[in-house]
Amino acid sequence: MDRGKTRITVAGAGALGLVIAWGLARAGFRVSVFDPAQANASSVAAGMLAPVFETVLDPDVDGHFHLLMAARDLWPALAGQVGIDLDRRGAMAVGDFEFLTRVTLGISQLGLTTERLSRSDLDAAVPGLGPAFQEGLLTREDWRLEPVPAMAALCKAAQAAGVDFHPGSVRGLDEGDKLVIATGAGRDLIPIAPLLKVLTPIKGQILRAGASGFDGVLRMPNGYCVGSSGGFAVGATMEPGVDDLAPTAEAGMRLEAVARDAFPDLETNFETQVGVRAATPDGLPMIGCTADPNVFLAVGTRRNGWLLAPMAAQIITACLTEGEAGPYAARLDPMRFV
Ligand SMILES: Cc1cc2nc3c(=O)[nH]c(=O)nc-3n(C[C@H](O)[C@H](O)[C@H](O)COP(=O)(O)OP(=O)(O)OC[C@H]3O[C@@H](n4cnc5c(N)ncnc54)[C@H](O)[C@@H]3O)c2cc1C
Repeated sequence: MDRGKTRITVAGAGALGLVIAWGLARAGFRVSVFDPAQANASSVAAGMLAPVFETVLDPDVDGHFHLLMAARDLWPALAGQVGIDLDRRGAMAVGDFEFLTRVTLGISQLGLTTERLSRSDLDAAVPGLGPAFQEGLLTREDWRLEPVPAMAALCKAAQAAGVDFHPGSVRGLDEGDKLVIATGAGRDLIPIAPLLKVLTPIKGQILRAGASGFDGVLRMPNGYCVGSSGGFAVGATMEPGVDDLAPTAEAGMRLEAVARDAFPDLETNFETQVGVRAATPDGLPMIGCTADPNVFLAVGTRRNGWLLAPMAAQIITACLTEGEAGPYAARLDPMRFV
């Protein structure tokens, strides 16, 4: 394949589409990204790159730890090349004895250790933390980025690598020789890639406010708080089967209660943001070749799209450069979901 002459259309400019477009342009392809510029999940996400806590706290990713960890390990190189700030200080958990025991056990079953945080450690790391939390723990394996600046950095790097961006939806293969579908929970391209039918939308609501003084990631039994100089966020709902973008009062109250549990004296006005994730029936992403040799999928990343984005780019680039000889030549198998 003459890469310089192969035109690749990437449908979708979320985290996956952007990292894939950048990777393909660097591999020598002519890449165009199309997106109607609607709200997307990537820009509202909390930005946690969290193989450990996602494995331990989310029953639906049980058994996916090595995949998530391998994806995380691709981040330092990507962030360095593109100019994304990675916060690699780790993530904390606080909660009652039962929660902390469950988390400690879960992390030890992954072969990892945690650092125990006393109340004075917590006072230093989490100013304003409520008195209910007398101890906590830290894993240094989970990292974080700020999604909106990361997307800006990715767009800039992709443009510098020769990617051109177009407003508007992709309807078919007409724009390029090959099509990479990175449309999140979008369903327009089902006629071209019927496997998209298996995706379930999962609405996620998250509260955002200006910087609160908290700088880090705090996991709790009922949610999480993330903070940096870029702002403070409290997340997030998981509403399977729901794909509207309307904030609800109930979710707002539930998430505010998470924030008040953690920071009882916090005085701030929250804005609710909404994104829709896309999940496959087995919780694993759908990234690779389809029955049509010109159509590739990078979807179904559920709660971990930022974490998985560099791995998606690596797989799609391998599919396109190595073709039938490569390790990813096998088509995505629809029987996986039967
Ligand atoms: C509240 C919340 C918190 C989250 N927190 C985290 C987190 O901490 N860490 C993490 O790793 N993940 C997190 N996620 C999940 C993560 O946001 C998603 O997995 C990820 O953003 C998916 O990226 P994507 O590029 O596949 O989809 P999206 O970001 O949804 O982008 C898809 C894009 O495709 C475009 N599109 C749709 N149809 C077409 C078409 N026909 N043609 C062209 N373009 C089209 C859309 O306009 C959209 O811009 C969170 C999600 C939510 C909702």
